[in-house]
Amino acid sequence: MPVGLRAIGQRSETVRRANLSAILRELHADGPASRSALVARTGLTRSAIGHLIGEFVAAGLVSEERAAPLGTPGRPSPLVRLESNRVGVIAVEIEVDTLAVAIVGLGGEVLDLLRVDRERTDIPVEDTAATVAELVSTVVRRPAAPDAIIGVGVAVAGVVRRTDGFVSMAPNLGWRDVPLGQRLVEALGLSLPITIANEADLGALAEHRRGAAIGVSDLLYISGEVGVGGGIITGGNQLTGAAGYAGEVGHMPVNPQGIACHCGSVGCWETEVGLDALLVRAGRQAGGGRSEAEAVVREAAAGGPLALQAIEEVGRWLGFGLAGLVNIFNPSLIVLGGSFTRIYPFVNEVVEHQLEHFALPAPRLPVRVVPATLGADASLIGAAELAFEPFLADPAHWLRSGAASSALASA
Ligand SMILES: [Zn+2]
Repeated sequence: MPVGLRAIGQRSETVRRANLSAILRELHADGPASRSALVARTGLTRSAIGHLIGEFVAAGLVSEERAAPLGTPGRPSPLVRLESNRVGVIAVEIEVDTLAVAIVGLGGEVLDLLRVDRERTDIPVEDTAATVAELVSTVVRRPAAPDAIIGVGVAVAGVVRRTDGFVSMAPNLGWRDVPLGQRLVEALGLSLPITIANEADLGALAEHRRGAAIGVSDLLYISGEVGVGGGIITGGNQLTGAAGYAGEVGHMPVNPQGIACHCGSVGCWETEVGLDALLVRAGRQAGGGRSEAEAVVREAAAGGPLALQAIEEVGRWLGFGLAGLVNIFNPSLIVLGGSFTRIYPFVNEVVEHQLEHFALPAPRLPVRVVPATLGADASLIGAAELAFEPFLADPAHWLRSGAASSALASA
């Protein structure tokens, strides 16, 4: 919240910091804006906005251009935009089938992205950290990298503690009690803050800030890959639980007569709706990953009965599980990410039917189910948002210390 009281103005350092943060958050979330729009959105005075933007301009974080007159009297308000090439973060995604590293500029633009396949075997965390480090050292040397890198955000397909990136369990990666945060610090060898969170939590954050759920304060993001993850935003805040483990919807028990899950239990939701469930029902081998799932979708689009039946059955279980989540969390929007985005057109009806049948009428009523709009990069974009957070919260700290001291100069 901006502290925009005219009487206080710039006198207090606390107020100045809060106001710098408010302006930066506006520009980062919503893109270029006129000074007048920033006045309206932050509640700050015109002169305060002018002064604070001057600070950002002097640091090279922001540029101003004269806006075209709109036919209204008075001077046109200059358009303020972030310089996305000035400051950026490294976003990392550790998925079962792929590893990805991106450089994301302030304002959320993906400036560079490297994605490599990951073998579906139990790869030690040290090897994964080493591969991530190689990818990072490649992207930071490429021309798209910004002047300064200020942090690293990591999305991992596992149950992870936010404070230190300790992965208690990542069944589909074959990890249990793995100090991922520590291993990444060692492998990267950068003096940058590294923040790690569950990939579906970050997918939810990304869709909330930049995708299908902008402006929605109560939403579920459900991502279907080999594992099934959930990110829950309630009252505008991410539900993390006591240590960051909340939202493990993939291991919600749904079928006591079902099959064994990688987590050690039986009949978890992901054994009925995850990628392997789709592939096996479509007469293919489990373990085929995204490309095989894509083949099933193509087959269904061409009218192949086995593929259509397989997708329908996944949809039935998907809607069944969602009905329970709707009863518990009362979301107004459910965003389907990962492979669910691809099968959405085929399962939309059966999911709605299941919600009708199994959810309580009152919480079911306001729910819309939509496909994610950020595609396969949602978790990466969320990881970038996580890494930007300290900077957005206190840009004054960075302005004071300058780009060089706390950041990795990548050029
Ligand atoms: Zn499980």
